Amino acid sequence: MRVVRTWNGVLTMQVTDPVCRRSIPLETVEAHREFLGWSYFFCSAQCVRRFDQRPENYIDRQQGGPPAHIEQP
Ligand SMILES: [Zn+2]
Repeated sequence: MRVVRTWNGVLTMQVTDPVCRRSIPLETVEAHREFLGWSYFFCSAQCVRRFDQRPENYIDRQQGGPPAHIEQP
């Protein structure tokens, strides 16, 4: 999973939605959230809602969190 860290200026044109795992172009991102200092980008309001409910399910394992949990729609 690619996590874009906006605070240090690292941006890619293509980001991965941590909820549905789709790769989406930055310009089509529906919303983003800050969590534990990282920025997460989402393709739809539905994915944002899922993240808001259980953000710890979706954070990257590099941050010491649990492995990403993939929910099926
Ligand atoms: Zn999504």
